[in-house]
Amino acid sequence: MAERSTESLRSLPGSALELADWDWSDIEKHYLDLEGRPLDAGTVEEWLKAWSRLKELVQEAFDRLFVAKTLDTADESREARYNTYLEQIYTPSEEHEQRLKKKLLDSELEPDGFAIPLRNLRAQAQLFREDNLSLLEQEKKLVSEYDKIIGAQMVEWEGEMITFPRLYRKLEQPDRNTREKAWRLAMGRYQADRPAINDLWVRMFELRNEIAANADQADYRDYCWQYRLRMEYTPEDCMEFHAAIESVVVPAAAKILERRRVALQLDALRPWDLQVDRFGRDPLEPFSAVEELIQKASNIFHAVNPALGGYFDKMNSEELLDLDNREGKAPGGYAVYFNAIRRPFIFMNAVGSAGDVETLLHEGGHAFHAFESATLPNIHQLTIPYEFAEVASMSMELLAAPYLTTANGGFYSEPEAARSRIKHLEDIVLFWPYMAVVDAFQHWAYTNSQAAADVEACDAHWALLWDRFTKELDWSGLEQEKKTGWHRKLHIFHNPFYYVDYGLAQLGAVQVWRNALDDQERAVKEYREALALGGTMPLVELYQRAGAKLAFDAGTLGEAVELIESTLEILESQSSN
Ligand SMILES: [Zn+2]
Repeated sequence: MAERSTESLRSLPGSALELADWDWSDIEKHYLDLEGRPLDAGTVEEWLKAWSRLKELVQEAFDRLFVAKTLDTADESREARYNTYLEQIYTPSEEHEQRLKKKLLDSELEPDGFAIPLRNLRAQAQLFREDNLSLLEQEKKLVSEYDKIIGAQMVEWEGEMITFPRLYRKLEQPDRNTREKAWRLAMGRYQADRPAINDLWVRMFELRNEIAANADQADYRDYCWQYRLRMEYTPEDCMEFHAAIESVVVPAAAKILERRRVALQLDALRPWDLQVDRFGRDPLEPFSAVEELIQKASNIFHAVNPALGGYFDKMNSEELLDLDNREGKAPGGYAVYFNAIRRPFIFMNAVGSAGDVETLLHEGGHAFHAFESATLPNIHQLTIPYEFAEVASMSMELLAAPYLTTANGGFYSEPEAARSRIKHLEDIVLFWPYMAVVDAFQHWAYTNSQAAADVEACDAHWALLWDRFTKELDWSGLEQEKKTGWHRKLHIFHNPFYYVDYGLAQLGAVQVWRNALDDQERAVKEYREALALGGTMPLVELYQRAGAKLAFDAGTLGEAVELIESTLEILESQSSN
């Protein structure tokens, strides 16, 4: 039992950044104090409040150092600071978190609004092994290695070194030779990194299998299922989902690609023909400066709902947006939640494309989740299942669609808006099969620990899945590029098994959108109410409250695909003015 020594307790700082400068010994005293305090029906509320505050600060400091590191990957001091915090504070804190979870579970108290958090804590506590702490820390460092490899990927284009986000914009160019050159340049760069990524995979894979074995799990998939708190669906449900995608989405995707091939007047559609406008129009240029992106996005969010627009404006005025692409910034886009101040932060690499608008609408949805659930008192109530977090973001992309036009303060003329919506809806259909490949690959890898330790077997299995889920695309002569597609999927390295979540949530989001077509106000009201529940309800109920169903079946998926296809028909007539 820990000794109580409140006298030497330094009171917790007002901000997470101050805490980041503390020595571990001062933070540890707060954990020991909580461990030592009596816990019963009379004290539990106060105790939970104190624990929550401590965890909020420790977590936010970690997240802020992460953000700082991704804003400038070339600044080694930022990475060093992140790593030091990770080793000296974050990892040791997890051991103490474990003790507090155990203390709460042992008390058999069930505070209000804690049924789901307790269910989650039980699962986490059951999975926790002290032996795994250093392995999990190693895993985080391997993830940083992946980021470093990808972050260093620049290529020379017309005498200038450019980043991949800029290079990928060339794939929108009407000139086919330019597109092919850009695509081959990107792939060539990846092929150069192939040995490094392969080597990283083998180390990661073995480490992950070891983590699962230490936790007495049959395999790493079982470990992830519990780690990701997937208590309301099974791997078999995912298999059903893959089969449903194969039967109802793959044919719809093939139709989209065939339309594209015909419009582009090509004999065969190649991988560099997917981003260009079908009718040879120049890429959309929705904005030039980041300020314009922010202003127009704000207008759109206000049109969806005034409160949501207000949240976004607050983020802007509080400097919680870092949106432009700069050399040295980590790739991609994300929204993170600063727990102690109950505010989100959005990171992205905007270069002026239509995709940037979609990204910001998406991350905006995540940010709104943070605002709506901010009044929940305890950090443990804010653990939102990813399968629902992505409903918040993907629904926002669709809810925002009617307001993309300049008439609504948005980015586009009427035909341009139709064009961008066609692209968006087509991408949804094309995404599901890709998602199935990424998910099925990981199911295979982590239940075949012998085979998947061999990178050639990984290549072969990826290619097999690729052929199962992708039709109408000609990869002949590009076998190396095709089979190494898994190298280019960040989630496989960063967040194992975190991908089906997007597929499920996309289906949820289409249902929210369908509701909005019937009654916009009611659909947004339900959406906001479901977001406000944070992580206090079962996943199935979060979906229900948002007006949707958590589904894996071909029936529900087929209805979603039908709605998308009929909307595409309407939009086609609007875009060809
Ligand atoms: Zn997201």
